[in-house]
Amino acid sequence: MSNLQIEQFTAHSDNFCVLIHDPETGLTASIDAPEEAAILEALKRRGWKLTHIFTTHHHGDHVEANLALKKRFGTEIIGPSDERSKIPGIDRAVRHGERFAFGNFEVEVISTPGHTAGEISYHIPAAKVAFTGDTLFSLGCGRLFEGTPAMMLKSLQRLMALPGDTEIYCGHEYSESNARFALTVDPDNSALKERAKEIMALREAGLPTLPTTILREMATNPFLRAHDPSIRRNLNMDSASDEAVFAEIRKRKDNF
Ligand code: ZN
Ligand code: FE
Repeated sequence: MSNLQIEQFTAHSDNFCVLIHDPETGLTASIDAPEEAAILEALKRRGWKLTHIFTTHHHGDHVEANLALKKRFGTEIIGPSDERSKIPGIDRAVRHGERFAFGNFEVEVISTPGHTAGEISYHIPAAKVAFTGDTLFSLGCGRLFEGTPAMMLKSLQRLMALPGDTEIYCGHEYSESNARFALTVDPDNSALKERAKEIMALREAGLPTLPTTILREMATNPFLRAHDPSIRRNLNMDSASDEAVFAEIRKRKDNF
C-alpha cells in the first residue's frame, strides 16, 4: 500500500487545515472545510480534486465551505451522526467505532464530545494519523461549549489510548498561547519547557507547530496530565479526582 499524502495549511486567522490524498485511488479528503479559497489553493498546489470532507463538528469555522465545495466537486460529506442536522450538505453520518474506507485506507471514527455534544475524531491506523478537530490541540483542548469536564476528559482518554506515535492534526494553530498557559500550571515539566521553546521558535519563523503526537502530548499537555503529582501540587489539589483537576485546569484556561 502506498503512503497517505498530507497537505497542511492555514485558513482565516488560526484554522489549521489538512488535505489527505490516497495516490493509488486518487481520492482526496479535506478535514473540515473552514474556507473555500484556502482549500482550492491547496488542491491546486497538489493537483488534487476534492472527493470527500470529513467533518469533526458543526461550528461555522469548520463547515463554512461545505456547500460551495460540494457544488464545485460533488464532494461527499461525512460527519457526526449526533450533529447531522447541523452539518450543511452531509451525505453520510457516522458513529463511534464505525469504520469506513477511504481509498485503500480504513478510517475509524472516535466519538470525542465535550467541545460540542456530538464531535468526532477520525483515526487512520495504517497511516498512523488522527484528526482531532477542536477536541485535542497541541498543549490544549477545546472549550467546553456543549459538554461537561467529565465528557471531555473521557474523550481525551480515548485519544490517549491511540498508539503513542500517532500523529495528531487538530483544528487550530493555538500552540503558542496554549504553551504560555501550560507553563503556568506545570512550570517544572522539562519536556513542556522544551516544547514551548520549540513552539515559540517555529511560530517566529512562520512555521506550523503541527502535527504533534500522542506521546508528546501525554508528556506536555496539562489537559492530559490531571493525574500528574506536580500539577496537582501546584493547584493544591493533591487528593482531588482527575475530573476535578481537569475541570480546574479548563476553568483557568478559560480565564487565562
Ligand atoms: Zn469548534
Ligand atoms: Fe474551531
